[in-house]
Amino acid sequence: MDDGVGMNHWIDPGGIVHVVFDRPGDKVNLLTPEILEDLGDLLDSVRGREDVRGLLFKSAKPDCFIAGMDVEVIASFTDAFKAAEGARFGQIVFQKIADLPVPSAVAIGGTCLGGGTELALACTVRVASDSKKTKIGLPETQLGIIPGFGGTQRLPRLVGLVGSLDLILTGKQLDAKRAWRAGLVDLVVPEEYLERETIKLMQKAAGGLRRKRSWGARLVEALPPLRRFVIQKANKATSEKVGPESYPAPFRALEAIEAAFAMPLAQGLDLEARIVGELVPTRTSKNLIWIFKSQSALKKDAGGIVALPRKVRRTAVLGAGIMGGGIAQLVADRGIPVRLRDVRGEALLTAMRQAAKIWKEQVDRKRLTPREMRQKLGFIAPTLDESGFSRVDLVLEAVVENLEVKQKVLAAMEDRIPDRAVFASNTSTLPISDIAARAVRPERVVGLHFFNPVHRMPLVEVIAGQRSSPESVATVHAFARELGKVPVVVRDAPGFLVNRILMLYFNEALRLLAEGVTIEDADAAMLGFGMPMGPFALMDEIGLDTCQHAAAVLEGAFGKRIGAATPILQPLVGAGRLGKKNGKGFYHYRQGQKTRADASAAKLASKGQPLKLPVETLQERMVLAMANEAAVCLEDGVVREPRDVDIAMVFGTGFPPFRGGLLRYADSVGTAVLVDRLARLADAHGERFRPAALLRDMVREERRFYAA
Ligand code: NAD
Repeated sequence: MDDGVGMNHWIDPGGIVHVVFDRPGDKVNLLTPEILEDLGDLLDSVRGREDVRGLLFKSAKPDCFIAGMDVEVIASFTDAFKAAEGARFGQIVFQKIADLPVPSAVAIGGTCLGGGTELALACTVRVASDSKKTKIGLPETQLGIIPGFGGTQRLPRLVGLVGSLDLILTGKQLDAKRAWRAGLVDLVVPEEYLERETIKLMQKAAGGLRRKRSWGARLVEALPPLRRFVIQKANKATSEKVGPESYPAPFRALEAIEAAFAMPLAQGLDLEARIVGELVPTRTSKNLIWIFKSQSALKKDAGGIVALPRKVRRTAVLGAGIMGGGIAQLVADRGIPVRLRDVRGEALLTAMRQAAKIWKEQVDRKRLTPREMRQKLGFIAPTLDESGFSRVDLVLEAVVENLEVKQKVLAAMEDRIPDRAVFASNTSTLPISDIAARAVRPERVVGLHFFNPVHRMPLVEVIAGQRSSPESVATVHAFARELGKVPVVVRDAPGFLVNRILMLYFNEALRLLAEGVTIEDADAAMLGFGMPMGPFALMDEIGLDTCQHAAAVLEGAFGKRIGAATPILQPLVGAGRLGKKNGKGFYHYRQGQKTRADASAAKLASKGQPLKLPVETLQERMVLAMANEAAVCLEDGVVREPRDVDIAMVFGTGFPPFRGGLLRYADSVGTAVLVDRLARLADAHGERFRPAALLRDMVREERRFYAA
């Protein structure tokens, strides 16, 4: 029977009600208020029926049980009372499952997240398929809220205090085996037996199911002082990662989980709903949900380019250095063959070793079997010669940053690769159109700019050169998505987007240093703002020579407006300070680890007296320099919309997600205030702060970057 949009049910001859989730026209199932209402009605209707022996929840989608509550619904709440009521409604429906006089079971195949997991928790038994797609978790804290349909109360009761802290505070997603080990599911079975085995276990559960829990765990939960100790430890560990003002959700989750052991279920549920109500309207949650939605939208949107991508089956990576090695590992990780070429055997060896190291870590953490690791390594074919490229669909070029070398490499490749193959350069500073200037097939040349370290940084910039064809751009865009990256399409302009904005940030940090501000103060100010790393620590990571080169390119392109910081870097690079890679930069290093700021580095950069400025002043100068440049990038059409800037900054530089990105932050400051502050900074410190024309227009027209 159809129960409305997205759910239907039928009763089998054995009296089992099969409740099937199947959202039309989508690969995933989501919970909506309508589905919850229909489910509530269904549960009411089966309650009194004598012929019903049990309830089985399952999905008609092969790779998804339920991916959670529709985030649009969560985002639509603006007041605490209504948001709490929304949570209570879900709790009531799921309580009806728990109160059924017959057993209930859930067959989990594919993603089961948030509300999906909470539905599962209300059932008598949970069975998961061993499919690679099975992922179970409660990721709500990553959206700035806590599970609100009973998750914070039922999970601790099922898996214990420590297990639930681990799952809820991190929002991690477990595969079937790990979910079983955690006690979250009762049984893991091959995909083809999922339904049969779930029904079997449910029938067995009618007579009561015994779950074993260690006596140690039960002791901790039973004794309030021990419980308190565990909660306090978790609180401390969380505080070391995030602050309660920026990210309140994990702290509130702790409160709810603690209540699960101290209160009856109904009271705990009430507290949970109240906390959800308080968190949903916060700016942090709104920003995190916005990032989540935009990131998904960007994956589908190839920068307005409408062309069909070509399927990439075989690839080649040129240059096995830091970036090329990383790219080859990433491609091979997805099971795509990659021919990795370098002119130095040593580089190939290092790249293979580095790739093996990344996979080995996963083997050690039981995310990969040694056999799978060998298979992945087998996808990389290292080579010193130029053979074996006749069947590749995509070449990823990551040789040294030198226009002539890149042009030569492209020319040599054009003779060897099929006409239809796309050539994507990973250049950080060279215009794609220059690389393609002498190409036979310039329409096949594009930019695909990864960030370092390749396997960690989610962003890639997809760059369309003047003559790149829409099909080539669409192909690398689709390929980037296949690699699991967040692609942002960027115009072929110096520094593209992220490095251009970042350079303004470094610039300002260097000027502050030259004025006498200490390395520690500047870095601490930005850590305080929420950046994962201060500007000086980041320059050390990138390499001061690389920063100097990139700064010179941007100064060449934009001149005065950028404000020359290269003279400040010059003496440092000249003195052999290259950053972390040679253990000498703005910081001291011991065995590759940063120890403390290096006073002699500051001396090389600063002639002035030591200067102490308020944290807010430091943050203002460094952040507003970036915001102003982001506005200029929009004016110049480097990206199409504010969203592209914000997602790129969050995923390419770690700009604090709770702030929603650079331009959402600018909106929170207010355009008029922003322009006023920039104008004051320009008067005091120079033209580089002169507010962008776009910002001034926005003030005149009373516009913001985003609709409020
Ligand atoms: P790298 O110096 O570590 O590696 C370059 C490799 O290219 C070397 O192993 C070199 O032997 C090899 N090479 C030189 N000529 C070659 C040729 N003709 N054929 C094949 N291999 C050749 O450099 P990297 O840091 O990996 O940078 C590579 C590219 O990626 C550059 O364009 C750089 O601007 C860009 N990039 C670097 C970073 C970064 O953080 N390092 C980030 C983004 C983009």
